[in-house]
Amino acid sequence: MKIILLGPPGAGKGTQAKIMAQELRLSHISTGDILRREVKGATPLGQEAKGYMEAGRLVPDTLVTEMVKKRLGEPDVEKGFILDGFPRTAAQAKALDGILSGGIDRAIYLKTSEGTVLQRLTGRRVCPQCGINYHLSNMPPKKDMLCDQCAVELFQRPDDNEVTVRNRLNVYFKESQSVLDYYRRQGRLEDVSGDCDAPEVFAVIKKILAFS
Ligand code: ADP
Ligand code: ADP
Ligand code: ZN
Repeated sequence: MKIILLGPPGAGKGTQAKIMAQELRLSHISTGDILRREVKGATPLGQEAKGYMEAGRLVPDTLVTEMVKKRLGEPDVEKGFILDGFPRTAAQAKALDGILSGGIDRAIYLKTSEGTVLQRLTGRRVCPQCGINYHLSNMPPKKDMLCDQCAVELFQRPDDNEVTVRNRLNVYFKESQSVLDYYRRQGRLEDVSGDCDAPEVFAVIKKILAFS
């Protein structure tokens, strides 16, 4: 199964992708996670991407597309995948169809209100070790500010501050419609409300995929 998850920053793409990867045995590919690793490792790609990410702007299509192409060539992807955070522009969507023979199976659009995503992004906290997302009030860790699995301290992503969040949402509103239209025209887009709690959202996704 080849699935992509669409929706604004904070819609819950990462959270759903992790549940789906586990329950449906698919590889979870997050372009944000890959880029953050490249930045941390100060690789040439990371050095180039850093400024864009800090400003809440999109990393240029050519760089991200090349990175995704490489990742999709790895052996674990053969069992199927969930792409989280890609494509974000019409050019990326076209490039993805060029990489995959026959395109994707389903594009799940987590349609989420602006109030919800603002609340989620500002309260998001992340485990530096395993990458699980928590939320100060929606999904707090069991103990203090420590990851339930790794017991290391959670941190706030630098781009989850209010000013950068605003920029990311503006970028999203500018670019997202053409991506949604692209998959709607292919008849592969499914709208799912992202405003409900995470198990409810997953139940809807599961139902859609069972009928695909
Ligand atoms: P969120 O989960 O909040 O939507 P991501 O972790 O997906 O954020 O992305 C973080 C940042 O990484 C983006 O603001 C952007 O700078 C960069 N990025 C991630 N995916 C892409 C992409 N497909 N195209 C361009 N830039 C990307
Ligand atoms: P995205 O990858 O789309 O940017 P995340 O999965 O990182 O979104 O979720 C953003 C924040 O909202 C995280 O702090 C996460 O714990 C929380 N969250 C995710 N899904 C839900 C949900 N359905 N209800 C409440 N909070 C959620
Ligand atoms: Zn952890």
